[in-house]
Amino acid sequence: LLVIRHIRQLITCAGGAPRSGADQRDLPIVHDGAVAADGERILFAGPDKDLPVSLTTAPDTRVIDGRAFSVVPGFVDGHTHAMFAGDRREELRRRLGGASYAEIAAEGGGIVTTVRATRAASEEDLVASTRVRLAEMLGCGTTTAEIKSGYGLDVATELKMLRAIRRLASEQPVDLVPTFMGAHEIPLDYRHRREDYVRLVIDEMIPAVAADHLAEWCDVFCETGVFTPEESTRILQAGAGRGLKPRIHADELGASGGSQVAAVVGARSADHLIFVPGEGIRAMRDAGVVATLLPAAAFYLKLGRFAPARALIDAGVPVALATDVNPGGGFSPSMPFAMTLACFAMGLTFEEALAAATINGAYSLDRHDSVGSLEPGKLMDAVLVAGDPIDVIRVGAATIAGVIKRGKVVFQTSMLDPRSSQT
Ligand SMILES: [Zn+2]
Repeated sequence: LLVIRHIRQLITCAGGAPRSGADQRDLPIVHDGAVAADGERILFAGPDKDLPVSLTTAPDTRVIDGRAFSVVPGFVDGHTHAMFAGDRREELRRRLGGASYAEIAAEGGGIVTTVRATRAASEEDLVASTRVRLAEMLGCGTTTAEIKSGYGLDVATELKMLRAIRRLASEQPVDLVPTFMGAHEIPLDYRHRREDYVRLVIDEMIPAVAADHLAEWCDVFCETGVFTPEESTRILQAGAGRGLKPRIHADELGASGGSQVAAVVGARSADHLIFVPGEGIRAMRDAGVVATLLPAAAFYLKLGRFAPARALIDAGVPVALATDVNPGGGFSPSMPFAMTLACFAMGLTFEEALAAATINGAYSLDRHDSVGSLEPGKLMDAVLVAGDPIDVIRVGAATIAGVIKRGKVVFQTSMLDPRSSQT
């Protein structure tokens, strides 16, 4: 057994999923809390005084003294492109020097660079480089992450990426949720025959992915100049017909119709939404679509604006947060940084941001029955924060003292030293 006792502040995020409207900020704090787990499953989470004695007296119990820190659920990052090859840091320097993404793309940079490198990389290379990124995410408190293909844009490379994701899922602690995203971009050699590429995605990629059960979700970049609402609808419906659940990149660079597509196809999540129009918000609410917001992407792309998070929450749309880790503008692996931007740039309360990073992220990935809150029966996935829970958004300070995944301490600082615990 693993028992954390006398926790300074425990926020379990228990109480149903998804959280929307006023329920998104209704997260009670348990002072002097306790969490107990048997193996990977939680047995108890609540006030320390209610902790059953039998859970503290078993001979193999490890007790962690929680007086110096707080405990929240492990973070669920519902939108990443963490698997890629190549290096675009020179582009970053150029963008900071004033070059626009359009200029860089026109010179053959941008996503094309990543596609070329990812096609050339071996499955082993992709596993090795992505493992490093997942370890970074874990150190920032992420215990479950979605991860997409989409830098292959041909049948062989898309399948190679998904096979590499499958291997990583069993080789490191972060639980991975795989998404097929062959419709991430139109490859260069299809730019003048785009319908041929849509057909390749629908007729060859989706059946191959489904036949080997390589992905759980199908995603499309619905945007002016990428995939139209009509093409996005066809691709997502084709995926759904093969058992791949829909999610979508929507209204990121303009009001391009993605939020309405999400409602029509019954997507679990529409992501980005910087330019979501009022009718898109209403369509999402009526269809039960989660808004997954990626404020770090808007920040690093210097878009000068963020998704209307307050309007979404006030309209009753459940809001989730994710990092959008990617080789272009996704420089931060940190869910706490996404939460920071959600609070200070999008007007969320800390509790709303925490629910967005945990239980609503879990719901956006259809994992809310097993992760996203600290409740008996769920996985023991937790973040130990030095101080109060809100200290987790002190960007740059090492406030994550420990991360527990499936009942095992998988990351810790000296604060969570074995010498400070009793058995
Ligand atoms: Zn994305």
